This record gives sequence, C-alpha cells and structure tokens, in this order.
Amino acid sequence: MSSAIDRIAKLLTVLWVAPVSVFALLLLPLAVWRASWRVTGGVLEITSPALSWFLQGPWFRAMSGGAGFAAATIGHVLVARNRTSMDNCRVHEHVHVRQCERWGALMPLAYVSAGLYAAWRARRWSAYYWDNWFEREARAAEGGAPRSDKRRF
Ligand SMILES: [Zn+2]
Repeated sequence: MSSAIDRIAKLLTVLWVAPVSVFALLLLPLAVWRASWRVTGGVLEITSPALSWFLQGPWFRAMSGGAGFAAATIGHVLVARNRTSMDNCRVHEHVHVRQCERWGALMPLAYVSAGLYAAWRARRWSAYYWDNWFEREARAAEGGAPRSDKRRF
C-alpha cells in the first residue's frame, strides 16, 4: 500500500516540477548529437558536446565570472558538459532538484530574486551566483567551499 502512495507522491512531485522541467525541451536540439541520456534517482541526466558548448557560453561565463558551468538543473533534468562533470556535480545538482520540488513553478522566480538580492546586497554582479541562497545551500551539501574548477548552476 505504501508503495502505491509513494508512486502517487512521486507522480505529484513530477507534475509539480513539470512547469520548470518543460524548459529543458528548449535544449533538445543540443541533446542529440553524441548525447548520453540516463535516468538516475528519478532525474533525467543528459550530456553532449553541444550542451558542453552551451554551458560554457558567454551567458554563463558572465554569470559565473569564469568559465561557465559544468552542469545545470532544469527541474527534473540535469545537463552537464560530460559524464565526468555529471558525476562531480551530482550532489550539488540534486540539491537544486530538491529545491525545485519545494518551490515548483515558482523556482525560476525565486532563484532569480535570490540572485538579484544577493547582487544588490554585495553591490557586485558575481554575487548573483556565488551568494545566491540556493547556490549556498547546494554548495553546503557538498561539504566544502566553492571550487572554481567545478562551477555549476
Ligand atoms: Zn548550483
């Protein structure tokens, strides 16, 4: 009986996060050529050379103040540069998955608001990412300080 309840709860969680996860469809053209798709812990993990290019694009380099991101979370979808990046970032990214499960469709608004507030407080743009409450929680789960070689979103 509890297994049926667990399945219903999981389905409801997936539906709650779906308004965020659906944005991963925008990356579908980047997730075909030489791509790797895998489901781990109820989360779809995708890597590809085109996603690697995307994660290192000027849009993410500006946000990270460095080389872009190794991985990113979009609801129940994780994208990463490659399998090694995915493995290195999984703990961090799964914290973001849990955050999406808490906030649902409000997650993008909450994340952007937290980032803008952090940047405003620090009076510097890099704080949008580094001092963002959601990122601090994810880094804390890793049990260490942020490392510049493993920046993630
Ligand atoms: Zn992050």
